[in-house]
This record gives sequence, C-alpha cells and structure tokens, in this order.
Amino acid sequence: MTELLDFYIDGRWIPAGSDAWQTLVDASTEEPFGTVALASDADVDAAVAAARRAFPVWAATAPETRIAFVEKMRMIHLERTEDMARAISREMGAPIDLARAAQAGSGPRHMANFIAAAKDFDFVRPLGHHAPNDRIVHEPVGVAALITPWNWPISQITLKVAAALIAGCTVVLKPSEIAPLSAIVFAEIVDAAGLPPGVFNLVNGDGAGAGNRLATHPDIDMVSFTGSTRAGISITRAAADSLKRVALELGGKGANLVFADADDKAIERGVRQCFVNSGQNCNAPSRMLVERSIYERSVETAGEIARSIAVGPSGEPGAHIGPVVSARQFERIQGLIETGIAEGARLVAGGPGRPAGFNRGYFVQPTVFADVANDMTIAREEIFGPVLSIIPIETEDEAIAIANDTPYGLTNYVQSQDGERRNRIARLLRSGMVEMNGQPRGAGSPFGGVKASGRAREGGRWGIEEFTDVKSISGWG
Ligand code: NAD
Repeated sequence: MTELLDFYIDGRWIPAGSDAWQTLVDASTEEPFGTVALASDADVDAAVAAARRAFPVWAATAPETRIAFVEKMRMIHLERTEDMARAISREMGAPIDLARAAQAGSGPRHMANFIAAAKDFDFVRPLGHHAPNDRIVHEPVGVAALITPWNWPISQITLKVAAALIAGCTVVLKPSEIAPLSAIVFAEIVDAAGLPPGVFNLVNGDGAGAGNRLATHPDIDMVSFTGSTRAGISITRAAADSLKRVALELGGKGANLVFADADDKAIERGVRQCFVNSGQNCNAPSRMLVERSIYERSVETAGEIARSIAVGPSGEPGAHIGPVVSARQFERIQGLIETGIAEGARLVAGGPGRPAGFNRGYFVQPTVFADVANDMTIAREEIFGPVLSIIPIETEDEAIAIANDTPYGLTNYVQSQDGERRNRIARLLRSGMVEMNGQPRGAGSPFGGVKASGRAREGGRWGIEEFTDVKSISGWG
C-alpha cells in the first residue's frame, strides 16, 4: 500500500498535521492501493506562510535565474519520465503508453514552451514612442494557490507552476485528492532542482478542506484553478471577500463542425479525439455536427470507429482506452448514457454497462449517439467519458448557432477544405480556441475559454502574464 502522509513545505517533507485521509483506488481493478493525508487548516497555513516568507527574495531574482530553475526542473522531469508515467497511470487509470507519451511528456513540453516564451518576455517595456519616459512593468502577483484536477494531472501542474515561478510568484500547489502521486513526484523534481525553500510548496487535500482554505486565505494573492465549473463558481465566491485574482480553466462541451467538403479522415479523427484519455478532456469534441448530405455515411463511420476502439487496463501496453477515473464518474456516465436513450437519441455504438469481458473496473463502452438534438441532456452536459453525440445540420448558420448554444466556450473544431469558410466560422464561434482540419494549435499558444469554461489563459507568454500585475511608471530615468 502507498501511504502519502507528508507534505512539501518550506523545502522539506513534513508529516501531515491532521489524521484525516482518503483512500486511493485503482480504476482498473476497483482495489484500494493507498491513502493520502488531507491537509488541515494548520497545514495549509504553514504552506502559505512559507510561500509568503520566500516571496520578496524570489520576486526580486532576475528572470534569467528563474528561467534557469525551470530548465533544471525540465531536465530532471525528463529523467523521471518513467516514474511520472507510472504514477499517473496508477492514480487516474491512463493506459501506460498514453501516460508515458502524452501525459508524462506534457510536463517537460510545457516547461520548454514557457522557457522559450520567457526569453522573449519583456518584464519591463516602454509604453510607446509618444511617452519615452514611461515604462510598463510586469510584477509577480504574489503568493499563488494552484488547484488542479486529475485528468491531465502533470500537464495542469506544470502549466501553472512553471508560469508562476517564471513570473516571480511563490506557490502552494494543491493537486486533486484523486491524483496525488504525480504531484509527489513533481515535488521531488522541484526539490532536486534546488529551488529556494518556500518558493514551491505542496499540500494534499480535498476541495472543501484545503481547497477552500486556500481560496479564502488572506495571505494568498491569486488562485489559479483548473477543474469543474461548479468548483470554479464556489472558489470565485470564496475568494471574493479577500479580492484575490481568480483564474479559472473550467469544463467544456466542444462542437466539431463537419461539412460535406471535409477531408475523408475527419470523422475518424473526431471520434478518436473525443475518446482519447477515455473522454476525460475538457476540450473534447463531444458534439459532432455533421452536414446532412454526408450525415448517414458519417454516422456509420463513427459507429465503426467506436466499435474498433479497444478498452483495457491501465497497466497494459497498447493504444486502448483505459477506465474512467472513479466509481462516481462511472455511475454518472452510465446515468447520462441511460438518459440519452430515454430522451430519444439513436444509439449507434456502445451503450450502458461495461464492455464485453469486464465485470469490474470503471470501464465504459465507447459510445456514439446519433440524431441528438442540442437540447438533450447529453448535448448540454459535460459527460467526461467516451460518449459522442452526433447532431445533423442543414446550413453553416445553423451549425454556428448550435455550436454556440451551450453554456461552455472552450474549444470548437471545424472540418472543411474551404479556407475562407473556415476563417469565417472560426471568428463566429464563441470559444477561446478553434482547431481546424486536425491541425494542433502551435507550441506556446494560449489554452483557455470563455463563458462557463472560465477565462484564464495558460501556456506561452499569456500564461506568464496571467501571474503578473502590470505597473505603469512615468518619469523613468
Ligand atoms: P473538480 O472541480 O472536482 O476538482 C478540481 C480541483 O479542485 C481538485 O483539486 C479539487 O480538490 C478542487 N476543488 C473542488 N471543489 C473545490 C472548492 N469548493 N474549493 C476549492 N477547491 C476545490 O474537478 P475534477 O473532477 O478534478 O476535474 C474534472 C473537471 O476539470 C472537468 O469539468 C474538466 O472539464 C475540468 N478541466 C478543465 C480544464 C481546462 O483547462 N479548462 C482542463 C482539465 C480539466
């Protein structure tokens, strides 16, 4: 059994001050494999105090020094890829090959992108030719609480920690209580990089306890949060009394607009993208909007692809999808699949219950619904499982209206060979990101949304800026 009973505070591993803990469960077997201590208020306060003490010196270091620390962390992270991959696979059930390449690999990739962005980032810049003695200075916000989810655990952690450290903030990280293993490996990496004590602190805990303590803490200047829209709202409320900056990366319900002139891999790509990481992606293209003239053929293809996707345990090598993270998520997804059927959507692949051959583990069948109306529950709620809803569309205007008819606004997708049409639609979609024709967004582009997806921007220079306050100075000598 794994016992995670220590927190990393002020440059040392310190035993948790409370005896509250939570069981860690293997999603492939439903067997408990460990426990994690949940921080008390006093544990959180100690971490915040350490970060506060470390702040003035860290904020005053040269950006080059901070960049060098992140580079050191990146190198150590690369050396520890296997440990990181195993931790992630264990804690949230990602198949080991996905955990190695995409999950563990995302940490060093994000750090490299921040380092590149930071080298071009002017922390002190002139306002403009009209005001030669004015300077715009980007100063660190202060002590930042970083609260992260379990679905891409190290991706979320590095997107926040590396940006905050480069900006000059000191931090208290509270990872998901469901996925604390990767965060422990990350803290070991920070420790090995020799960061000054107190600059980075880690406490484990749940949302209602440690999360809320951080959100309300008078000595925290900013909360950077990634997770559910529900928790984002409660953090915003909790942070209001102390007027903290709150940066939110929340859920999504992405639309994938597939027109008759789309390339012939568009449907397959859309299905696979929806199911990667067992569908547990905030930017999943979970609503596929298909033009009527190619609709039936596309539904058939989507069904075939879904049926060809293997499901398997997290420890097994291969390109299969793994279980979903927890019993709670499993039950919720099952309920939503039942609701889809009850509300009249046409089941094309998958459905309720585990895939054939499984009688335990949180395995969900790759499921495709067709003839979905955008007001059905499965089209409105973020399912966070391998469930795709296909919606027929008649015109471009209707497609845009349906895509935008959602509380969320994170990523939308467009498939068409007509560049002018793509550009026109990209401008009209209400989302922070638009990906077209399967082309991934470039390194260092900002990740974030609008509306109920939150309005933070992570990655590249925007991610660094998020952790700074802008000071405007005249009379610069
Ligand atoms: P969650 O909101 O349940 O938990 C996320 C984190 O917030 C955890 O660390 C949790 O302990 C903490 N938390 C929960 N309630 C809190 C509260 N009231 N106060 C303070 N902290 C609290 O989300 P999850 O289930 O871990 O992750 C899945 C969600 O994350 C999905 O909705 C997904 O879309 C979203 N997500 C968004 C992005 C993005 O960048 N937009 C990326 C990944 C995941």
